[in-house]
Amino acid sequence: MHSPIFSLEVFPPKSHAPVGTIYDTLDGLEGVNPDFISVTYGHGALHDRSLTARIANTVRHEYGIPAVAHLTALYSDKEIVDEALDMFHKAGVTGVLALRGDPVEGNEPCGVFEHSSDLAAYIHEVDPDMKIFGACYPECHMEASCLEEDVDNLKKKVDAGVSHLITQLFYNNEDFYRFLDLARSKDIDVPIEAGIMPIRSAKSVNNMTTRNGSEIPSAVQRLVDKWGDDTPSLQQAGIVYASEQIADLVAHGVDGIHLYTMNRPALARRIWSNVEPLFKVVE
Ligand code: FAD
Repeated sequence: MHSPIFSLEVFPPKSHAPVGTIYDTLDGLEGVNPDFISVTYGHGALHDRSLTARIANTVRHEYGIPAVAHLTALYSDKEIVDEALDMFHKAGVTGVLALRGDPVEGNEPCGVFEHSSDLAAYIHEVDPDMKIFGACYPECHMEASCLEEDVDNLKKKVDAGVSHLITQLFYNNEDFYRFLDLARSKDIDVPIEAGIMPIRSAKSVNNMTTRNGSEIPSAVQRLVDKWGDDTPSLQQAGIVYASEQIADLVAHGVDGIHLYTMNRPALARRIWSNVEPLFKVVE
């Protein structure tokens, strides 16, 4: 274990890619020693529901790294959740990241779990020993009217059994500190890991604004303006940016850093080699 916690996220290979490509990602992360790797869950109703469990099993049993499995609520009913929990147990997961998921056009939600807190409460009821993780949003979730309302809803998630939070990516640490103060003032006392995403391309930065409503601070915009057409230089500048963000967060006493690898192990490895000395190894 590290202090602060250091964890990674990977996603199952896209449907057109062979599932074995996950080995390229996991092999590429050799030398990075995360406290856990979380494995995402597909959008909508049509994805292969066993994929997250299979990758989590690989992470846990072939690479010896604790695995956390994501699970979404909108397209799940109780039977699907029971089946997923069974698969996750067999995969030896450390915990489940209970999410609502996003509506997918043309897919009718099951109508059983409306919010992640409903899913968390159900998991807590049927599987009380399972550690439940949850998501949170330093810049406010897109559908909430304000941060205060979103954090009030976050408290419901924690009260429903979530004992560890991971934030959406953000580029401006001040947003995280503001959110953290508010969360602590509302008695949200569980660990909150800060989500950091390396810059992969100008397009990926712009997508974050559209998809998550993330603010692009002027310091990041300047990198995109300068190297938007030169991806290797932009990625290098992004590694420096993410490493400085992490150093500031660690100096501020953050509970943990969750690096969104986007299955680009080289970026994660280079960031880790910059910041590793800032993370103490503890039992
Ligand atoms: P919720 O907690 O349900 O919140 C959604 C909205 O409802 C918010 O505005 C909140 O304020 C409000 N709300 C919450 N609870 C209540 C309540 N009890 N009553 C009233 N309002 C409430 N998506 C995937 O499809 N697969 C993944 O693997 C995945 N992994 C993710 C990992 C992380 C760390 C993060 C931050 C996001 C991830 N997502 C994933 C995206 C996520 O599904 C979306 O951000 C989704 O829009 C919200 O999910 P949530 O669990 O935060 O929802």
